[in-house]
This record gives sequence, structure tokens and C-alpha cells, in this order.
Amino acid sequence: VQSPADRWSWVEIDLSALKRNTRKFKALLEPGVKMMCVVKSDAYGHGAERCVRAMHSAGADQFAVATVEEGVKLRKAGIEWPILMLSEPPMDCVQTLVDYDIMPSVYTSEFALALGECAAASGKVARYHLAVDTGMTRIGVRREDVLELRRTIDFHRGLECAGMFTHFATADAIDDWDFALQLNRFNEAVEIVREAGLETGLVHCDNTPGTVLHPECHYDMCRVGIGLYGLQPAETTAPRIQLEPVMSVRGRVTRAIYPSVGDGVGYGLTWRVPKQNMQVATVPIGYADGLARTLSNNMDVIVNGARCRQVGRICMDQFMFAVDVNNARAYRPAKPVEMGDVVTVIGRDGDEEITADEMAKLRDTINYEVVCDFGMRLEKVYV
Ligand code: PLP
Repeated sequence: VQSPADRWSWVEIDLSALKRNTRKFKALLEPGVKMMCVVKSDAYGHGAERCVRAMHSAGADQFAVATVEEGVKLRKAGIEWPILMLSEPPMDCVQTLVDYDIMPSVYTSEFALALGECAAASGKVARYHLAVDTGMTRIGVRREDVLELRRTIDFHRGLECAGMFTHFATADAIDDWDFALQLNRFNEAVEIVREAGLETGLVHCDNTPGTVLHPECHYDMCRVGIGLYGLQPAETTAPRIQLEPVMSVRGRVTRAIYPSVGDGVGYGLTWRVPKQNMQVATVPIGYADGLARTLSNNMDVIVNGARCRQVGRICMDQFMFAVDVNNARAYRPAKPVEMGDVVTVIGRDGDEEITADEMAKLRDTINYEVVCDFGMRLEKVYV
């Protein structure tokens, strides 16, 4: 367990694990197929700049973000590799995109032409990727409108189509009719553009589950996100690729006492000390750090290699847990906890491990949301 002395709580990012995961995905691709690493939401809470550098050193070619700000932040940090924004930003952002060389996704002629005007006025050519809605009904030009859009904007000398992509709604499913339908529609859209003699740029559609389960449509590039962070997008991918979690979340005990039987813990006193000789300890991680309040009284933490029960409501900045030193088996560290002991919320300590999947299940959500949330406020420590 890494334990920086100058902070009470932190997110630990294992860059070697991130690199090994990245290499594993790269190895799934035929030579020449590019890998775009999805680093939106600060690399799913893992810290985009450091992750981008680690991923690039392990074979990544391009990067994808969700907002203009995320792209600009990477550029200001000195990242020079291609960056795609996965949606069309507000029109007022075109100058920023041009200045920082961030490729937007394009699906309206108004935006595309504004981008082209801006690029031309700056003496540049703006590269964009054409997003096609093949059935997810989220973003993109509808497939039947692809050619018309391209014909409307292609005259513009300020624009260059650097890619064409779609996003699958059910890439984790096996033998899925909806997936096949989306893929057919995408293939058709690409064909229409090619037959019209227009540039497609890099053709791409697979996300993590698609990359693992549907190699037939790796095409020119795969857009891999969650898998790089060592998390499975679905049960279907787990048997196909072994990954190592990259994020751990840890804090230190800032107080540990033996309250009296019947004493209540936290707002609303939702948990009371049931017997003598139980410790209640405090850790400065709360819901503003990404530890969802809905987990209150319903999750474990690990301290000194043993699981303990979180008790009382999770506060904005702190939570409490109970240590039952007399418990015969479970929930009993080898010794009473002391101030400064390291408490693991996500990650491994000794033989015990709490995964983002375990927490996601308790929260009725997905591992993606769990790790994104922990990126909110806690400082990151790279190991
Ligand atoms: N491509 C697009 C357009 C996305 O929105 C995302 C993330 O949701 C990804 C790729 C990466 O998906 P995943 O994290 O499942 O690999």
C-alpha cells in the first residue's frame, strides 16, 4: 500500500497496470489499425495528462475527449498527439478548436461551415470526424443524410474529413440483432461516401466491448476507454481479456475511539454501537470525493488486511467505519486500528480486495460511474 505522508486521502493510479492494459488492447489490433484512447472525464477519473503519456508510451495513437476544455487542458499540458472531441461543441468554440488543433465530431452543416470559415480565416485547415447515428439516437448525422451533409460542406477549403465513425448501443451483446443493424447501417454510410468519391478519413466504430467481441469491425481504428483502466465493460468481455484495475482509493484513519454501547454515529444517528469494545474510526473521504451517500451503512472498507463495515451516513467529506475487535471471524483486523492507518475503499490490501464492480453493484450503477466519481476531488498519486 502506497501511503503518502502529506495527505489524509488520495486516489492511487498504477501507471504500469495502465500500460499493460493498453498493450493488451493494442495486441488485439492488426498491424496498422490505430488505437484511440478515450480519456474523457479526466481519463475516467484517473487523471488525463499522466494517463495520455503512459498510454502513448504503450502504443496509443490518438485520444478522445468529451469537451473542448478537456482538449485544451491536454494541449496546454504539452500533449501533441491527435485529439478528437466526441461530440459537436457550441458554435462559439470554433476558434478554440482551431487554435488548439482539436478535432470536433461534426454532424450539422451550420457548425461545419462555421468551423471551416474560422480555419480558413486563420490560414489553417480544420480536421473533423463525421459522426453517424446508426441507431443509438444520441449524436451524429442520420445515415440517410450523410451524403447531403458532406456535399453541403465539402467545398470548403477550411475543412478536411479526418475520420468517420459511429457508436454502438449494444456492443457488449453477442449475436445481437441491434448491433448487426447498426453495423450494417454504418457500412452502408461509409460505402455511400466512398462511392461518391469523398474522403472518409479513418473509419472507426468499436469501443472496448466492440474491440474485444467484434474484431470484424476494428476497421482503421478502435476507440478504447474503460478497458484501459482495467475494468470490464460487461460480463461478456470478462472471459476474453484479463485486465488489471488501475485505480485504488485510500484514506487514513484520522480518529479511532471506543464509543459507549448505544452511541449513535453520523447524521441522523442511523447506526448505533451494539456492544462493548467496538471501535469507530473516521476517514476523510466523503460524497464530495465520489463516495456515494447511497452506500451509507452498506459497504465494506479494508484496513490492515481485514474487511470492516462502514457505519453511519457518509458525510460530504468523511465517513466512519466500525472495527469489531472481538468478532470471531469477519470484520476483524489483526489489531485495533490507530490514527494514520491506511483504509482502502477501492483496491487491494493484503488478501482482501474491493473492486469498482463490487461498489457499482451496491450503488446499482456501472464501474464507469464509480471511477469517474472518485476523480472529482481527491488528489492523485501515480505509482
Ligand atoms: N466512443 C464513444 C463515442 C464513447 O462515447 C465512448 C465512451 O462512452 C467510447 C468510445 C469508449 O467506450 P468504452 O469506455 O466502453 O470503451
